[in-house]
Amino acid sequence: MTRPALAIIGNGMATARLLDELAARGGLTKFAVTVFGEEPHGAYNRILLNRVLMGGAVDEITLKPRAWYAERGVQFVPGVAVTRLSHAAQRLWTSDGKEFFFDTAVFATGSTARVPDVEGLRRPDGTMKRGAFVYRTAADVQQMRHHARPGMRAAVVGGGLLGLEAAKGLSDLGLSVTVVHLFDVLMNRQVDALGGQFLRRAIERLGITVRTSVSTKAVLGDKRVEGLSFGGETLPAEMVVFSSGIKPRIDLAQESDVPCNAGILVDDQLRTELKRLYAVGECAEHDRTVYGTVQPIYEQCKVLADVLTGADPHAAYRGSKVYTKLKVAGVEVASMGRIDADRTGDECVQVIEEARGVYRKLVVRDNRLVGAVLVGDSSAAAGLVQLFDDGSPLPPNRLDVLASGEAIPGGGGSDPEVCNCHHVRTSALVGAIRSGCDTLPKLSDQTRAGTGCGSCRGQLANLILQNAPSTTRKG
Ligand SMILES: Cc1cc2nc3c(=O)[nH]c(=O)nc-3n(C[C@H](O)[C@H](O)[C@H](O)COP(=O)(O)OP(=O)(O)OC[C@H]3O[C@@H](n4cnc5c(N)ncnc54)[C@H](O)[C@@H]3O)c2cc1C
Repeated sequence: MTRPALAIIGNGMATARLLDELAARGGLTKFAVTVFGEEPHGAYNRILLNRVLMGGAVDEITLKPRAWYAERGVQFVPGVAVTRLSHAAQRLWTSDGKEFFFDTAVFATGSTARVPDVEGLRRPDGTMKRGAFVYRTAADVQQMRHHARPGMRAAVVGGGLLGLEAAKGLSDLGLSVTVVHLFDVLMNRQVDALGGQFLRRAIERLGITVRTSVSTKAVLGDKRVEGLSFGGETLPAEMVVFSSGIKPRIDLAQESDVPCNAGILVDDQLRTELKRLYAVGECAEHDRTVYGTVQPIYEQCKVLADVLTGADPHAAYRGSKVYTKLKVAGVEVASMGRIDADRTGDECVQVIEEARGVYRKLVVRDNRLVGAVLVGDSSAAAGLVQLFDDGSPLPPNRLDVLASGEAIPGGGGSDPEVCNCHHVRTSALVGAIRSGCDTLPKLSDQTRAGTGCGSCRGQLANLILQNAPSTTRKG
């Protein structure tokens, strides 16, 4: 019997996760799955792109090697874009002129880097001038690496997560780096003004120059980048990386008459407004929100797999409470919910440790945690995330929740989540370690922990030290 054809357009982090979720529900045998990927690689972990900037191979950050698809009967079409899709004809066409039939199609086309319309950036043919880059794909960072030389001056436009990561990478390659940020606070979406100061100091300690409240007006240089102009002032640079946000890739959906706003509009089951067409990941807009980090996207993938396979036809995605726990340019940062007290009666608890470079803040409303910012030490993040998620009441001494997850009465403190990307809790990790996963690769293979943003890998190593049978016996 022929299986229904499921086409997945895009082969990024959402698709990698969706394939796993489908596999777990028998979806890879139920459907004839075809994955179309414009990039030539198997799906890779975009979060770890700095490793490629440092000279690593894309294989090192690959989530699904090409063999993975073949071994599971998934048809993988790499290196070609889907350029046209007809809903009525249930067909799509690829950039190499081939035509494919589908019963169901999923847009997982992600985003591109948003590049400001800056004078002097583009050549007459529309491409960016030599020395100008974005930071989104493996090809982008390979080109950046090819261009970069120790001692060269680089400007990174954008002081958000990606900009700071790019700055750190280029600084590690020996370039003299200046981050140019439009707002007065670095990572202004995730951290408040004071947290931004701590973050800035930590970044400057790495030898990276930070310029805030600066608007880039033009890229200087005739054939290649020679600097930036901020209006009256100029900054010499032989290389510029634009990292000023993302733009969902909705062009194909729009051309196929799929209703879009900022992203492709989807309902609680990730359905677009056209039958048989779904969207997931950074290209999808759910309840007026387009997400730009993996944790909500992974939650979407679970629901979509439930719906597509029929494992739970009533599964519904109701939006995500977003929290971020990262190592930005080597600095631990965690953020969730509100970063400022913005309602009368909101309570703010701030702990400032100048010498350690650590800043921690809680925003409390009606005795519940509604937001937190941690810079320099995010060890309390796991416990806080759970309090934030489940809304349990805080202890009278708010500082207890910053001290240790275990001090949280009634909260998730007794079994804190260690890997926020994959929602892996301490108990599951300890169980896996005790049953033989006594190295980081084994533990990550078994539980997925540490394979997202990687910021929990230190905690995983500690858990192994504390719980692996061979190590505990010694103790
Ligand atoms: C450097 C960097 C660091 C990051 N760090 C973090 C972090 O620490 N934590 C975090 O949570 N998130 C982080 N992110 C964001 C995270 O990587 C994204 O949220 C995630 O990759 C989105 O997954 P996606 O599948 O929706 O999109 P993508 O991963 O972008 O994948 C989309 C894929 O679809 C392909 N495609 C698009 N159109 C077509 C077409 N028409 N035909 C065929 N293929 C197509 C694209 O080429 C791409 O390969 C980071 C991102 C970057 C770039």
